[in-house]
Amino acid sequence: MSNGKQIPLSQDELEKITAEYPTPFHLYDEKAIRENARAFYRAFSWAPDFKNYFAVKACPNPTLLKILQEEGMGADCSSLTELIMAERTGFGGEEIMFSSNNTPESEFVEAARLGAVINLDDISHIETLEKSAGIPELISFRYNPGEARFSNAIIGSPQEAKYGVTREQIVGAFRSVREKGAKRFALHTMIVSNELDENCFADTAQLLFALAVRLKEEAGIRIEAINLGGGIGIPYLPEEKAVDFERLSKKIAALYDEILVPASLDPTRVLFECGRMVTGPYGYLVSRVRHVASKYKEYVGVDASMADLMRPGMYGAYHHITVPSKEGQPHDRIYDVTGSLCENVDKFAIDRLLPEIDPGDLLVIHDAGAHGHAMGYNYNGKLRSAELLLREDGTVQLIRRAETVDDYFSTVRFPGTPVKI
Ligand SMILES: *Cc1c(COP(=O)(O)O)cnc(C)c1O
Repeated sequence: MSNGKQIPLSQDELEKITAEYPTPFHLYDEKAIRENARAFYRAFSWAPDFKNYFAVKACPNPTLLKILQEEGMGADCSSLTELIMAERTGFGGEEIMFSSNNTPESEFVEAARLGAVINLDDISHIETLEKSAGIPELISFRYNPGEARFSNAIIGSPQEAKYGVTREQIVGAFRSVREKGAKRFALHTMIVSNELDENCFADTAQLLFALAVRLKEEAGIRIEAINLGGGIGIPYLPEEKAVDFERLSKKIAALYDEILVPASLDPTRVLFECGRMVTGPYGYLVSRVRHVASKYKEYVGVDASMADLMRPGMYGAYHHITVPSKEGQPHDRIYDVTGSLCENVDKFAIDRLLPEIDPGDLLVIHDAGAHGHAMGYNYNGKLRSAELLLREDGTVQLIRRAETVDDYFSTVRFPGTPVKI
């Protein structure tokens, strides 16, 4: 029997959608995205001017970004394209956080033009920024605590990470930008990824709150905003539990009262830049079965591939799969669920217990709403799928069409023809 994950529509409704929009496609649930965003903001209503800057890379679709902006979120960008997408969606000024690394001058220029909060990854970037766009009034640094902090498996040890300014550098970094004219200061770190234990985020808060106190005492630098990064995980496995926002918030509030308030650092803004938990659970990759093949193992071949969702092939990540027409049937067959790439890692599931599957069945791959479509690629000439939005009124809107063969060929030159500019 089914073990838990639901879809926000009936099997019939899903079939009807496929009559208009052929599989494969990503489908996002607007109502669930809004409800989750509101729950997150409600939990942190104690925090002065709380904001989550949605990590655009997780799901770079303007329609979704607009919905998140309406729910109070900002845009966390790390490239020129993401900055332009944020601008064209209607984000501006300090609603945009520019958190990049190994950054070219041109991107600092664009971030400065938009008035984005610039978050510097390295002390060498101070000069790059000064030369290209000038030092803005507000500046943030990404902090890497090194051995002061363990991370989780996905990001790895902070000492091995390419990101951030070290413990030895951080005070000097702020002094330097102050000398160059900065007047407002913010602090950022990102230590964990896909983490379900709220204590990890409380540890991060403790670390940054204490650092804000140190900066004030040692250098008279008044930090006005502390960005705890992204990385709040989602329960990919049916038996896992989502992070409880209220519990997370209470722990961070207690640290705020314990560390920042006595140091006269109230008010300080508390910020996040989560992507995964904002859209991840509310996006579904819908795919139809082409073939069921019996070799040394049993295979279900679907019309989606790694071009639509890389995580299982790339990280061996688990994504739950349901068969809406057969959820009431016994899940007593063991299948590998594959795409059609000439890459044996192009599998959505290995040795997965599912009901007996036939060609034509619709499969729903869950938790594909973040780092899903966004990570797709064109290897093997595969074309990326469409993105659909299930609106609050139950209608379905195309928010990105599927790629076409012409899209794929738009950048190449065939012999005897000019490259299209
Ligand atoms: C990827 C990333 C995020 C978002 O991470 P999620 O796991 O999607 O929450 C936030 N900040 C930075 C700097 C990142 O690189």
